[in-house]
Amino acid sequence: PNAFLGSLPTTIFTTMSQLAMAHGAINLGQGFPDTEGPAELIDAAAEALKDGRNQYAPLTGLPELREAVARANRRDYGLDIDPATEVIVTSGATEALAVSLMALIEPGDEVVLIEPLYDTYLPVLRLLGAVPRCVRVEAPDWHLPEDALRAAFSAKTKLILLNSPMNPSGKVFSQQELDLIASLVLEHDCYALCDEVYEHLTFGVKHIPLMTRPGMRERAIRIGSAGKSFSVTGWKIGYITACPALTAVIAKAHQIIAFSSAPNLQRAVAKGLDLGEPFFTTLSDSLRARRDLFAEGLHALGFPTLPADGSYFVVADISAHANGRDDVAFCRDLVIESGVAAIPVSAFYDPQGAEPPRHLIRFAFCKTEAVLTEALDRLGRHF
Ligand code: PMP
Ligand code: GLN
Repeated sequence: PNAFLGSLPTTIFTTMSQLAMAHGAINLGQGFPDTEGPAELIDAAAEALKDGRNQYAPLTGLPELREAVARANRRDYGLDIDPATEVIVTSGATEALAVSLMALIEPGDEVVLIEPLYDTYLPVLRLLGAVPRCVRVEAPDWHLPEDALRAAFSAKTKLILLNSPMNPSGKVFSQQELDLIASLVLEHDCYALCDEVYEHLTFGVKHIPLMTRPGMRERAIRIGSAGKSFSVTGWKIGYITACPALTAVIAKAHQIIAFSSAPNLQRAVAKGLDLGEPFFTTLSDSLRARRDLFAEGLHALGFPTLPADGSYFVVADISAHANGRDDVAFCRDLVIESGVAAIPVSAFYDPQGAEPPRHLIRFAFCKTEAVLTEALDRLGRHF
């Protein structure tokens, strides 16, 4: 078997979810909501199931979903997208990321990434023979260092992989930061793969797609996820928006990896996207209230939290309570002794790279207030 894949550890999300289950812990590790998605989506999916939507969908997605993605791009960001040639529906953002990378990368290409990063990026890159060039946003304020970013680009750079709003940091890149990235993409004549799965989950700041910045319409690939936008992470419906020259090649990769995705779910997601602003405002307001409740509770227990303007996640500093333990040991003890699961942030760094921070852990706050309060009570018994 492939030696690299054989040696790849089981993802930290599965490992921590299993540990949480074994110890009856509240799972604030893996990021998934503990409530159902909107009733109109569930109903639409159920109706589509009964309505004969059970054979292969077209390769690039149901026309009604591609049209809804194009409408949402116009409504939310003023982007003019052709649903026939510029949208591809995938089996989750995970597949969207992999097929986009397959479509762009040739062995030896360099890819700029920003750490801490989501754990599927590096393994896919390495399987494709790409060379990662990681830049770190640094705690405690998740500042993007311009010099390091500039230095990571070279004549061999094929693309930058940008995740905003960012997992696990919760950072939402500012317009100035995006413009710096756009200028480097233009200067080095490369592409930007934009993982925007948390696009609608921002708190008091607005998400700006890199694709809307000057020169980026033809160079950016934008990825969204119904799982995140509609609180249905198990559905695994993603969507890619890019110019036709890029989607033509990405479609080939999608054709050999998944070919198509569940048509009934696609129909429901099309309805969801049309819910628009009122729906997403309610969702982000509700998440913001839960972030505040949980972050304030952590502060009071001696776990300062870092700024989190978007996503499901908040990162906390464990230094005051670590007693010599690193983040991995701390998270293990937290499950067993306190009954609360979190994710060590060191898991979001390149295992082949420089020493990661070991004093940070990530909590998912996309849970009901009652569950978050219970988790704080449990922590309060030990800290
Ligand atoms: N990108 C990021 C940053 C994520 O956090 C996740 C997972 N939740 C994904 C991609 C994958 O999304 P999906 O579940 O749609 O495959
Ligand atoms: N994106 C989710 C998280 O960061 C996990 C998804 C998964 O388990 N693959 O928690």
